[in-house]
Amino acid sequence: MSTNDVAPIAARAAAVRSALIEQGAMAADALDPIIHWGAEEWKPENGARVVAKAWTDPEFKARLLADATPACAELGYHGPQGEYIVALEDTPSMHNVIVCTQCSCTAWPVLGLPPDWYKSPEYRARVVREPRRVLHELGLDLDPAVSVRVWETSAETRYMVIPMRPEGTEGWTEEQLAELVTREALIGTALATPAS
Ligand code: FE
Repeated sequence: MSTNDVAPIAARAAAVRSALIEQGAMAADALDPIIHWGAEEWKPENGARVVAKAWTDPEFKARLLADATPACAELGYHGPQGEYIVALEDTPSMHNVIVCTQCSCTAWPVLGLPPDWYKSPEYRARVVREPRRVLHELGLDLDPAVSVRVWETSAETRYMVIPMRPEGTEGWTEEQLAELVTREALIGTALATPAS
């Protein structure tokens, strides 16, 4: 097989899995819960619910900013890659955006598994050097007066952004507010969706 003739990624993953099981390095069912949780349980709607609660419950927000790991667990969101969650609050003068320059870390329980663009070498390299340009290319134009802070998430610390609550949402329920928070807003490449 030449180097240009590489099997599809699913076949390669299956081969690695078989080899690990054959060598006794991994139990045959070790990945089952990860696959289940990754597909069914870890999703950005969880983080959206965390944000919506923070917008409506000042005491929860204080707990979230103090230590997001137990605060997220209050809502049932915990588990692998969610052991050290740190919440970053956007303000009128400061916008937060997350990257893992090493690989693809996200806080799985509240953001879900990372999207392909987040894992791309281009995003990982460029958002650090020229965040405003990258955000512009992703459709987010920030006022020049707003500072941008780029946070390196890692195996030890998994960030989530708390975007600003859109104007015109006074009196909305948590469920309504959560609808305004996308995965991109939790990463910081978008704002919460304006009220319509
Ligand atoms: Fe990573």
